[in-house]
Amino acid sequence: MPVTVDKETCIGCAACVGVCPVTALSLDDEGKSQCDEDTCITCLACVGTCPVSAISEK
Ligand code: SF4
Ligand code: SF4
Repeated sequence: MPVTVDKETCIGCAACVGVCPVTALSLDDEGKSQCDEDTCITCLACVGTCPVSAISEK
């Protein structure tokens, strides 16, 4: 399963965007992280990178 971002918790630091090996994460129009579920390979690298624990496995 891909990961999902809790947008209320995300502070838009973009740390996760930089660690994703397949570029599945990007910031949306509101500056919050979003995951392209078709691209995500569920490596979970982003989960441990987020400083506010906004990313979790679906
Ligand atoms: S789990 Fe891995 S592949 Fe999926 S969005 Fe996070 S860093 Fe990218
Ligand atoms: S690392 Fe966490 S707080 Fe930073 S943009 Fe990604 S989801 Fe949001």
